[in-house]
Amino acid sequence: MHEPLVDMDTYNLVQEKVKMRKRPDAWGNYGIFAGLVKCGECGSTMNQRVANAKAKTRILTCAKYNRYGVAHCSQHRLELDTLYQIVLEQIRSCAALALADETKVMEELRKSCQCDSEEESRRIKAKLSESERRLSELDALISKLYEDWVAGRINETNFTRMMEKAQTEQETLQKKADTMRERLNGAAKEQEDNSEWLSLIRQYADIKELDREMLHLLIKEIVVHARQTHECVSRPNPYN
Ligand SMILES: [Zn+2]
Repeated sequence: MHEPLVDMDTYNLVQEKVKMRKRPDAWGNYGIFAGLVKCGECGSTMNQRVANAKAKTRILTCAKYNRYGVAHCSQHRLELDTLYQIVLEQIRSCAALALADETKVMEELRKSCQCDSEEESRRIKAKLSESERRLSELDALISKLYEDWVAGRINETNFTRMMEKAQTEQETLQKKADTMRERLNGAAKEQEDNSEWLSLIRQYADIKELDREMLHLLIKEIVVHARQTHECVSRPNPYN
C-alpha cells in the first residue's frame, strides 16, 4: 500500500510555533508529533489512533474525516512509524546539506519564505533614500510656500494650489516610504530567522531518534496529502 505524500515545512519560526497540544494519545502518552501534523486537503489536525488493536499499529488520520466522514475529507491515513522514519530522514538530510553547503540552504530558505534577495533589498534601500531625499525637499518647499504667503509674495489662489500639490505628493511618498521600510525590516528579520535555523539544524546530522522538543524546534508544520507518492520526502529544503 502506498503511503500519503508527506509535505514538510522544516523551517522553524520560533515565534510562530504552533501551539502544542497537550492531549495524550490512546496510551496516555503525549505524541511527539502532536500539534505539528495537518491534513493537506482540509487543514484539520491529524489525529492519532490505533488501526489494528492486535498489532497496535498507530496511525494518523484526518480529524475532519474521522468526525464527519467521507463527504468532508478523505482519511489521509499515515502510519506513525512511517512518519517517524520520514521525518528522521528529512532532518538528517537537511542537517547534512546545511553542513555541506550553507549558502545553498540559505538561498533555499530565502526562496521558501519568499523574502527579498540581497540585490532586491539593495534596490529598495536605494529607492527609499531617494524618497527620503524628496520628502525633505518637500518639507522645505512647504515651509517656503508658507513664508511666501505670510509675506505676501504669493497670492491665496496660488498658495492653495501649490500647497495642495506639495502635500499630496508628500502623503503619497510617505506611504511608499513606510511600505519600503516595512519590507526591509521584514527581510532582515527573515534573514535572522534563517540563520538561526541553519545553525540549529546543523546539530542534527547524526540523530538516531526524534523527540518532541527537537521537532517543535525545527519543524513548523507537517502536511499530509492524499497523493500516493513519496516524491517530496527527499526534498531537503523547507517549503510551503
Ligand atoms: Zn482532511
